[in-house]
Amino acid sequence: MSEGRGARPGPDPADRVVIGITFGNSNSSIAFTVDDKAKVIANEDGDRQIPTVLSYVDGDEYYGAQAKAFLVRNPSNSIAYFREFLGKDFKSIDPTHCHAAAHPQDNAGSVFFAVKDKDAEGEASHVSVGEAATRYLRRLAASASDYLGKKVTSAVITVPTNFDEKQREALTRAANDADLEVLQLISDPVAAMLAYDARPEAVVEDKIVVVADLGGTRSDVAVVASRGGMYTVLATAHDYEFAGVQLDQVLMDHFAKEFIKKHTTDPRSDPRSLAKLRLEAEATKKALSLGTNAQFSVESLADGLDFSSTISRLRYEMIGRKVFDGFTRLVEGAVKKAGLDVLDVDEVILCGGTSHTPRVANNLRAAFPESTEILAPATSAGAVNPSEVQARGAALQASLIQEYEAGDIEQSTHPAVTTVKHISNAIGVVTVNPDGEQVFTPVMQAETAAPARRTVHIAAPRDGGDVLVKIVEGGTHIKVTKPEPKPKEPVNGDKAGSDDDSDFDSEGDDDDDDDDEKREKIWKLGKLLAEAAIKGVKKGGKVEVTINVLADLGVTVTAREVGGKGGVRGHLAA
Ligand code: ATP
Repeated sequence: MSEGRGARPGPDPADRVVIGITFGNSNSSIAFTVDDKAKVIANEDGDRQIPTVLSYVDGDEYYGAQAKAFLVRNPSNSIAYFREFLGKDFKSIDPTHCHAAAHPQDNAGSVFFAVKDKDAEGEASHVSVGEAATRYLRRLAASASDYLGKKVTSAVITVPTNFDEKQREALTRAANDADLEVLQLISDPVAAMLAYDARPEAVVEDKIVVVADLGGTRSDVAVVASRGGMYTVLATAHDYEFAGVQLDQVLMDHFAKEFIKKHTTDPRSDPRSLAKLRLEAEATKKALSLGTNAQFSVESLADGLDFSSTISRLRYEMIGRKVFDGFTRLVEGAVKKAGLDVLDVDEVILCGGTSHTPRVANNLRAAFPESTEILAPATSAGAVNPSEVQARGAALQASLIQEYEAGDIEQSTHPAVTTVKHISNAIGVVTVNPDGEQVFTPVMQAETAAPARRTVHIAAPRDGGDVLVKIVEGGTHIKVTKPEPKPKEPVNGDKAGSDDDSDFDSEGDDDDDDDDEKREKIWKLGKLLAEAAIKGVKKGGKVEVTINVLADLGVTVTAREVGGKGGVRGHLAA
C-alpha cells in the first residue's frame, strides 16, 4: 500500500506554490497566504464556499455551484456528498444524502458512481470515489492556479479528527492523482485554532478551546488544550443526525405543508419538485442568518404552480428547535467527555457553515458562563467567518512548512498537533494570605504538554524574612451555591436581570433554577510535590519559582530570591 504523503517525489521546496484546502461533503474552500495573512479565494463563479458537486452534461464537466444547480435537472449524472466515502467499503457507507444525485454503487466492496460523463447518449462510465475526488480537487487547484497566476503544486488539506488511516491514504492518493502534492493533512479543529491564533491581536496563552464544526451533513466537536502553542486534543464527538441538512428539512416540511394547504399536492412526492424545494429551503435558511424575515419563492414548484411565502426567524427557531438543541447537547457532551466543566472552557470556536446561524451561537452563549468567549458572528465582533476559518488555517500551515523537504515535514510538524504526554493535574504554588488562609496559584495548567517550563514571582512578606514555597498539584471542583429559596412571585415570573427577550427561550424550560445557581471553579490542593525555604528575603523582595516538567513527566523545581544569590533546587521523578 502506498505510504500516503510522499508516495511520489514532490516538487523542489523552492518551486512550490502552496494553498490550503478544506474538502467537505457539502462545500470546499481554497486559501492562500500573502504577507503572512491568509485569504480565501473566490473561484471563477465568485464562490468562496464551493459546493462539493460534479455534474456532467453532454460530455462537459461542471463543478461547484453550477453543478449543484444541475441537481434539479440532471441528478443521475451529478455526484454529490462523496468525500465521506473515500477509503471506505461499500458496506460501511451511509448513502442517505445521495438519494437526489447519482447513487453510490458496489464494485466488489469499493464504491463507484455510474454517470454519463462522455456524452449524454453513450454508456455510463464507472467513476470511483477516488476518481471523483481527483476530478473535483483538480478543479479546485485549477481555480486557485488561475487566481494566483501560477500553477499550484502543493496543499495542506484539513480532515475530520475521526478520518482513519485508510481515508487519509485515499485522500492523499486522490490529491496526488490531481497532480497535487499533499504537504500535510491537518485536523479540522486544529486548522481553526491556527487561524485564530494567527490573528495579529491574538494572545497565545494557555487555554481550553472547544471547536464546534457544524457543517451540512455532520457536526464535529473537539475539546483542545492549547498550552504554550501546543495543541492537545482531549476529546472529540461526532454527530450525523444534527447538521445543516436537517435544518433544510425543517424548512422544506414547513413550506411543503403550506403548499399542500393551498394546492393539495405534496411537492415532496416528485423528485424534481423536491430538489427545487431543497435548494430554495437552503437559500431561505441562509437568509435567516442575516435577517429576521426571509422569502421563499420557487417558480413552478409542483403541478406547474409557482409558490412564494415568507418566514420569520422566530418561527424558524421554533420549528428547528430540536436540531438546535441537538447541537448544544453535542457540545456539552464533548466537554463532559474531556472530564471538564463548561467553566473550564475559555473559548468556543464555531466553524462550518451552520455556525452562521444566530440561534446556534446564542444557545451556546447561554450554555457557557460569561467567562467563555463564544466566537461566532452572532456573539462576537472579533469572530472569523465560520465558513472560511479552517481554509485559512490550512493555508497558514502550508506557508509555514512549504520550505521543508517532504521527508522532514512529518517529523517536524507532528508533535504540534497530536496527543503528546501531558500532565493531568495543574501544578502551582501555595502561599498564605494575610488572613492566614492557604491560596493556590496555578503555574502550569492541567493538560500542559511535556516538556514545559513556567516561572512565577511570589512576593515575600512585606517586611521580608523567610519564605516557604510549597509546590503542589491542584485539581478543580465546581462549587454550586443554590440560591436562598425565594417566596414565589405572583404570576409573571420574569426574573430580575434576565434581559433575554426571546420569548420561547424560557418556554417549556424547567431548568430555570439552574440560572440562579452560582457555579464557581474552586482549587483543591492535591499531592505536595516540593517544599523550599528561602531564608532572609529582603524587604519588598520576590521569590522566583521555576517549574520544569520533563519529557518523562518528571518535575524539577527551582526557587531563588530575585536578584539574590543561590537558590534551592529539587527533582521529583515521574
Ligand atoms: P459537511 O462535510 O458536514 O457536509 P461541509 O464542511 O462540507 O459540511 P460547510 O460549508 O461547513 O460544509 O457547511 C455547509 C452547511 O452550512 C450547509 O447546510 C449550508 O446550508 C450551511 N450554511 C452555509 N452558510 C450558512 C448561513 N449563512 N447560515 C446558515 N447555514 C449556512
